[in-house]
Amino acid sequence: MALADIIGQDAAVATIRTALARDAVPQSYLFVGPDGVGKAATALEYARVLECRQRTQDGDACGVCANCTRIAADQHPDVTRIVPDGEFTRIWQLWSRPGHPPGVLETLPFRPVAGPQRIYLFEKAETMNEESANSLLKALEEPPPYVQFVLCAPSRNAVLPTILSRCQVVRFRQVPTDTIAVWLEKKKGLSPSEARLAAAYAQGAPGRALRLAETPELREQREGLLTLAERIAQSPGIAAFKLAEELRAAAKPPAAKGKKGADSSEESDGDRTARGDITRALDILTAWHDDLLAIALRGPEAPLVHEERRAALVKSAARYRLEQITENVETLFAFRRHLARNANAQLATEVMMLKLVPRKGGST
Ligand SMILES: [Zn+2]
Repeated sequence: MALADIIGQDAAVATIRTALARDAVPQSYLFVGPDGVGKAATALEYARVLECRQRTQDGDACGVCANCTRIAADQHPDVTRIVPDGEFTRIWQLWSRPGHPPGVLETLPFRPVAGPQRIYLFEKAETMNEESANSLLKALEEPPPYVQFVLCAPSRNAVLPTILSRCQVVRFRQVPTDTIAVWLEKKKGLSPSEARLAAAYAQGAPGRALRLAETPELREQREGLLTLAERIAQSPGIAAFKLAEELRAAAKPPAAKGKKGADSSEESDGDRTARGDITRALDILTAWHDDLLAIALRGPEAPLVHEERRAALVKSAARYRLEQITENVETLFAFRRHLARNANAQLATEVMMLKLVPRKGGST
């Protein structure tokens, strides 16, 4: 990897390159943009350029010096990545507290030992609770000259205004699906159909596409949900409650089954996790309905996301009238909003499923 390998973020990378070329990098950057679009990857490449002993002519990291290789292996003594502990980035992660490992920011007063800079990368700055965020302010205000901060967050509003005002903001955008598909195929060696499928589900986030493509459990889960979608199309309304139960079960991520969240707040983790899982399951049902719509509008030869399921999709499309397919897509979006507003997951999926099953009078 190098800055040149960051895909679909030309404007952000150009901003950073210009600052590097002028030797005028701000001491605190805030990278904002949706999850998985490349903020943390860019932050790491930026750190490599800062630490590299022999930058290339176009100002990129060489990739082979000791600093470059140690950063790539996540073993550089002066580059610290800070990721949340569970749901939050906590005060004891930053500053030493009894009963915890040493806080990472306790190294601030010490000059770097291996490279010219000491760099702190907050991969999810939005997860800092107020205590952590406030404790960072002083460091952001008057950092030692050899210190660089990079904070990543989904938006400007996701961090305290006092933090925002101390950082230079760089915006990252969603990457077009085609760009992601080409990248997965050319750089990651995926087959064209796998690349297209993973990119279609990535919502503009190459990181998410790669994770989908490289995690067999997630692929299996997607296949399970698509099979469930086919069964919804073949089911009478009376089966809706059973199907809703199956959807909630199938929505659970394979790795998380049986695991319990570490923190509890005013609502149970179980409810919140279930809503998040179901929202991701809705992405899959929505993509499946997009294919149904393509067939209903353009016939059985229409280009599809789920090419390998064409026969089943054609059969399913025949069970619905066109207007119900479009209504189902709206239903899926409506339930995404319900879930975001803390709806009860069980009740919501049951009501949703009653709407999704074919009404009488399909086109065959
Ligand atoms: Zn290097």
